[in-house]
Amino acid sequence: MAYDTQPTASHFVDGQYLEDTAGDLIEVIYPATGEVIAKVHAATPAVVDAALASAKRAQKEWARLSGTERGRVLRRAADIIRERNHDLSVLETYDTGKPFSETLYVDATSGADALEYFGGLAGSLTGEHVQLPGGDWGYTVREPLGVCVGIGAWNYPTQIACWKGAPALACGNAMVFKPSETTPLCALKVAEILHEAGAPAGLYNVIQGMGAVGASLVTDPRVDKVALTGSVPTGKKVYAAAAADMKHVTMELGGKSPLIIFDDADLENAVGGAILANFYSTGQVCSNGTRVFVQKGIKEAFLKRLSERLQTAIIGDPLDEATNFGPMVSQAQRDIVMSYIEKGKAEGARLVTGGQLMDGDGFYIQPTVFADVTDGMSIAREEIFGPVMAVLDFDTEEEAIARGNATEFGLSAGVFTADLTRGHRVISQMEAGSCFINSYNDAPVELPFGGSKQSGVGRENSKAAINHFSQLKSVYVRMGDVESPF
Ligand code: NAD
Repeated sequence: MAYDTQPTASHFVDGQYLEDTAGDLIEVIYPATGEVIAKVHAATPAVVDAALASAKRAQKEWARLSGTERGRVLRRAADIIRERNHDLSVLETYDTGKPFSETLYVDATSGADALEYFGGLAGSLTGEHVQLPGGDWGYTVREPLGVCVGIGAWNYPTQIACWKGAPALACGNAMVFKPSETTPLCALKVAEILHEAGAPAGLYNVIQGMGAVGASLVTDPRVDKVALTGSVPTGKKVYAAAAADMKHVTMELGGKSPLIIFDDADLENAVGGAILANFYSTGQVCSNGTRVFVQKGIKEAFLKRLSERLQTAIIGDPLDEATNFGPMVSQAQRDIVMSYIEKGKAEGARLVTGGQLMDGDGFYIQPTVFADVTDGMSIAREEIFGPVMAVLDFDTEEEAIARGNATEFGLSAGVFTADLTRGHRVISQMEAGSCFINSYNDAPVELPFGGSKQSGVGRENSKAAINHFSQLKSVYVRMGDVESPF
């Protein structure tokens, strides 16, 4: 293999790579071929302890710097990431199987955006002065939380490591990050680059492991905050464990988001939006609009154009820049998706296109579209996390809104219509955190990202993330004598 995917060691702790082969072996598999491309070990209790101890030490030192000084480190890290974008994107493709044509533009670059944005904000994080009666006054101090734990999903390993790390560090916290065991490679590079950019040893540590390592971090008394990206069932466990010690949390969880397409929508844009909402990253995106409600008047034209455009997908070697549709991340995820495709057929949905595994050792599935899907079917209710679009028909705006909201999830929602008033009216009624009008799945760092209902708690990105990685201290200052009752 031309590119060396084996990391120097499994973990990055206290400013250097660290190995402990006593931990369970984790084989990293390239999804396009099924080959083992690297081996790492899960963190032992000794590694967990070393990471938390170094984070605790580094946090105190880091919090004493001015915001501007902290921001300078983050912005330098952003620059290094951009300089190395090509190689980081290749690594992201090996880690996840996502096509290089995506990773080159979306992964390390969006991580750099977060580091640059929060690096820029760090110097202007302040409290307030508050005038009170009788000449008294008060002020607030924005303080770090302490040691934050980040736990990642496998679909955006570089981005998740940065989206959690950048606001945490900007606010003066330290971080111990545990990537998904499926994609352990990319976060190590983030740690290495932050250190090279001037972050003190221990400020941003990466340790590997399965859920048990994540759980041991969440319950450790040295941890003040837990930021998880993962599924709703994991989110419930982690939230409950964090609540036992009243720790702060951010939960970025799953979804089954509605995308509503009205008769008057521009057909090509609506089809393009639905493709982005279902097949980007081979459908492995939490905010995907996987329930596509199409108004009856445009339905047949929509399905025809969608099928035509899907025939032009270039499915193949993810490292070939022409490829725009890669494999699923793992055999396990491919099996889950195939079982949903079987359920879709068994429950009476009409398979319009796709539905088959593809030849070869990689974990490829064809882009798949079901039409005539009804609300009760499994493929309309449950998160599949793969390239399976469910198309549902509707008649009226009220009906689409009610059916779109009839889910326990609330991550995203989208609408395509030529009537801008209707676009805003519909979105104002959608129970979701990240919404789109005549677009889908944009996530600029300047806008908050996160879910409502069971899709999550808290927000990443934007100024809103600052509130989730810092706390306010209020100080009352009396200018006269104390009036005591006795
Ligand atoms: P997952 O829930 O299986 O695992 C997520 C992470 O949690 C992994 O690192 C895992 O090791 C860890 N974990 C598992 N059990 C744990 C426990 N008890 N304590 C602590 N940590 C534990 O999710 P996944 O399969 O890796 O990722 C797919 C899911 O993530 C989907 O549901 C998807 O929608 C969601 N996701 C959400 C967002 C978002 O921003 N809202 C983004 C990407 C993915």
